[in-house]
Amino acid sequence: MTILPVIPTSPDQPDAVATRRRPSMPPRHLADLDLAARKAAVTTLGEPAFRAKQLSTHYFGRLVRDVDAMTDLPASARERLTGDLLPTLLTPVRELACDDGATRKTLWRLHDGALVESVLMGYPDRVTACVSSQAGCGMACPFCATGQQGLTRNLSIAEIVDQVVYLAGVAASGAVTGSPPRLSRVVFMGMGEPLANYPRVIEAVRRLTAPAPEGLGLSQRHITVSTVGLLPAMRRLIAEELSVTLALSLHAPDDDLRDELVPVNQRWKVAEVLDAAFDYAAQTGRRVSIEYALIRDVNDQPWRADLLGKLLHGKLAHVNLIPLNPTPGSKWDASPKPVEREFVRRLRDAGVATTVRDTRGREIDGACGQLAAGELTEASTGGVADAEVAQ
Ligand code: SAH
Repeated sequence: MTILPVIPTSPDQPDAVATRRRPSMPPRHLADLDLAARKAAVTTLGEPAFRAKQLSTHYFGRLVRDVDAMTDLPASARERLTGDLLPTLLTPVRELACDDGATRKTLWRLHDGALVESVLMGYPDRVTACVSSQAGCGMACPFCATGQQGLTRNLSIAEIVDQVVYLAGVAASGAVTGSPPRLSRVVFMGMGEPLANYPRVIEAVRRLTAPAPEGLGLSQRHITVSTVGLLPAMRRLIAEELSVTLALSLHAPDDDLRDELVPVNQRWKVAEVLDAAFDYAAQTGRRVSIEYALIRDVNDQPWRADLLGKLLHGKLAHVNLIPLNPTPGSKWDASPKPVEREFVRRLRDAGVATTVRDTRGREIDGACGQLAAGELTEASTGGVADAEVAQ
């Protein structure tokens, strides 16, 4: 593991502990607005409307946020425009790298002291950003570090987008060893439940996929939204007619166990959320990803593999098995490899495409919320990590 230079908290940064108590939404940022609204904002500042495009080209097109580098803007307008439309939303607290620089994790402090994480993962053919949609999470899944923290607040559109734009800049600098210098994929698998922050997440997707200078120009197909299965929001997502990839965190094929592992199942059952996932797949023509963290002696029994195989047989779905990352103090552990192999074999025998997720960032607490949890308790969690989805 390489610990990248620690970024000191700036003296004007409010004390995190003192401010964490009262979470509040951040100041407005250009990524909150579409191009038309940016033009209106710029005009209100007394500048010609075309400055909105210039600013947007810097931010989304060139990944530049340093006011001094914006030499096409008159010096008199720079501070005013950037002060109003490019406030600092994310302050890096810790940056960690491992896997020879191919995995990089950033812990951010938001304007109100809340902490969130993002992970950048490089592969020979692509670079993926794993981003947070909320500070903390209200879904309370007992095996997830973020689930133990509870929900602090939703992130704004720009707080979500800015994670990606920042990581796109890291990728463009060539810092991700052995990967192309272009970020091409985003997975909403950091902290939070994306569909519980629905309107902002959808707007963030629109910004990430709009062509520059309105947005970052990523392909919708290269964006994965992962959910515990909030049924009404899944139905709403179907109506949006986007072509993002949907991941459903199932973790158990039976309601008895899923009620415990994913508490929201007490409200919306396995059959209902799977139906919604299949409807989404039918509408987009894209396979849904069924996420399943394999937990030793909890959900890894052969009969559960068979039941899952039965539920998914003939459907436009594939299973992504995740070796559990034990969170600190957890009674649960990952399944032994032979058990995992048997689980995979049974699913494949049932005709269900199955992959085992690559566990990235083992040394850097890459699992959902572990870095922030460590910072909150001011102790290293020392957990293993896992932040990537095989796509
Ligand atoms: N709330 C969303 C997205 C965030 S978590 C969701 O639940 O889908 C992304 C994935 O990581 C989810 O499938 C989640 O269940 C899984 N996950 C969380 N903690 C984990 C851990 N300790 N080990 C393995 N997978 C974990």
